[in-house]
Amino acid sequence: MSIKQEQYQVLLYYKYIPIENPEQFAKEHLKRCQELELKGRILVATEGINGTVSGTIDQTNEYMKIMHENPLFHDMVFKIDRTEGHAFKKMHVRPRKELVTFNLEDDVDPNQVTGAYLSPKEFYETLQNEDVIILDGRNHYEYEIGHFRGAIRPGVKSTREFPEWIRENLSQYKDKKILTYCTGGIRCEKLSGFLKKEGFSDVSQLHGGIVTYGQDPEVKGQLFDGKCYVFDDRIAVPINQVEDIIVSQCSHCGQPADRYLNCADVTCDQRHICCEQCEPKYQRFCSSKCLESNQHYHQA
Ligand SMILES: [Zn+2]
Ligand SMILES: [Zn+2]
Repeated sequence: MSIKQEQYQVLLYYKYIPIENPEQFAKEHLKRCQELELKGRILVATEGINGTVSGTIDQTNEYMKIMHENPLFHDMVFKIDRTEGHAFKKMHVRPRKELVTFNLEDDVDPNQVTGAYLSPKEFYETLQNEDVIILDGRNHYEYEIGHFRGAIRPGVKSTREFPEWIRENLSQYKDKKILTYCTGGIRCEKLSGFLKKEGFSDVSQLHGGIVTYGQDPEVKGQLFDGKCYVFDDRIAVPINQVEDIIVSQCSHCGQPADRYLNCADVTCDQRHICCEQCEPKYQRFCSSKCLESNQHYHQA
């Protein structure tokens, strides 16, 4: 006899659409999510909504139904992943000034200007058949554990650093075909729009992001090497169903590894890649320095 494991789903979604009173909306939406017993993180701004929530299949299906009944979100695209439990510990709905912060005086409105949308299949074919610049639209630590083969590593710690970094590093590619991608597509909507406003002539984005790409039955995640970083308890998810390649190394011993840990010293909290052997050896500290200083502390 076995206890039937209840199946859970993680939903990832966004939509750029004017929302009049984000504070009020967030308050009501949180109540709704709590009634459904969902967990996750949802951001609401006057420019739209962006969320990741987890729950049982029934709970998450009910949430999608409720969202689709709202005229604002009737056409919302949900990316759905099966999991064995919640991917979050709490439920937050937070009003924000912007969903994606580019730190621009004149912000990009993706409903006005954005790159051409490529389906996973179109993206996959373009990667192979055309002379393209592939720009990873995420932060460098997301790139570190997995990215499209040949993609440029973005030298940014947060999205707000992108405009300056692009102006300094990519200006020579204004006449090339540029492909951008990110986790679920929301960041590329603005990033590709920004590139067009900056004078890049041929800009396309992966529609639905890496998560959708990994679920395409024909493409099977090919040409994505490593894992896809996600902003929930899973930390990273597999994408490529054909080749399983590890592109990152343990920060202690240099062996191939693709697990992120936060330093056990909460005042450090450094995100670092750690292999299974080094985890007990360094007691989840990011470095010998953090390990030693904490040992002193405990002995004192
Ligand atoms: Zn190691
Ligand atoms: Zn540390």
